[in-house]
Amino acid sequence: MPTPPAGPAPTARAADVTSRALVIGPAEYAPDSGVPRYDEIGVSAVQYGEVLAGNPMWGKDRCRVLMPEEVRTAESVMSALETEARRTGPGDILMVVYIGHGAYWGDVPGAEVHFSVGSSYKDKPWTWLSSWYLYRAMRLCRADLKVLIADCCYSNMLPHLGNGLDSLPGVLDDSGQGTCVLTALKDDNVRAWPLGCEALPGPLAECTPFSGHTLDVLRNGTTDHQPELTLGMLRDAVENEMRRCRFAHDRPRMLLNDAREGRALFTNRMDPARRAPRPDSPVGAEEWAAALLRGSDCDLEELLNDPRKTGDVVALLRTSHREGAAAVARRIDEQASLRFRSPRDFARYWNKAERALRP
Ligand SMILES: [Zn+2]
Repeated sequence: MPTPPAGPAPTARAADVTSRALVIGPAEYAPDSGVPRYDEIGVSAVQYGEVLAGNPMWGKDRCRVLMPEEVRTAESVMSALETEARRTGPGDILMVVYIGHGAYWGDVPGAEVHFSVGSSYKDKPWTWLSSWYLYRAMRLCRADLKVLIADCCYSNMLPHLGNGLDSLPGVLDDSGQGTCVLTALKDDNVRAWPLGCEALPGPLAECTPFSGHTLDVLRNGTTDHQPELTLGMLRDAVENEMRRCRFAHDRPRMLLNDAREGRALFTNRMDPARRAPRPDSPVGAEEWAAALLRGSDCDLEELLNDPRKTGDVVALLRTSHREGAAAVARRIDEQASLRFRSPRDFARYWNKAERALRP
């Protein structure tokens, strides 16, 4: 009997996992609620469903867009989230997309960003869904990677969780829970512009600008040579597209907490003939740092062959203000500590890397 060839086990393909996407887009509110109704919210939710259904890494069986009656109360949204979270397991991705209104009250216990649901009233915080509950359900699920895409006002405040903590333990911290958050807003902006961007084609012009541009990138893919897109690649492409758009837009922001930013999340729909050729490996430390931040599939072994260059890259990442840079620096530093066992190699590495830690 022939022996099967030795080699690494095949990587899990999309078909082997039960990754789930849940889209929450409450567009209808009571007439006396004081919460404005925007058709863009509902159209965006439907379009996320369409675009994910057409993306081979997802497909329509893995994506659930909540119906208007399912987004009416915090209870119905959380119950749907718990159901979807329970369906995921190790190796899977849980992606939650929220499009709606965000609010932030500094004078409620554990001030957090709150998401609107259909029964929310403008000045009644208890009628909104605290982002803390959403995070908690995501944290408890067994999926390896949990992604929240938030398109609402105050989404830039999502990491500013209450109780004096910068991050919620086990959710947006460093404990390897594999959580990424992509938000419509960067830095000090608190208002997300809700009205559609006329530069976008077809129904995408009726989505909110952030969702419309994100969906446009997902629908068309990017010219990157890779067949699949990471969240970092999506963020960069959306940011570029929104910057180039003839209308002025807020810029998106991404927060992530560990080394899983390199995981593929969507199929790149761009025709392979129109994609850029696979680039050569980065050369200088700056190129390496930029490629690692993009989540490019660079050959780390090549970098780790050079202790000094590895040290330079870690120093650059540690002093970078780019989101996620600190997490990537930690990942390379861990690899370096394992690799550079000889005192000579370690000294070469550390001499460069520790520059970033000097006061
Ligand atoms: Zn635009």
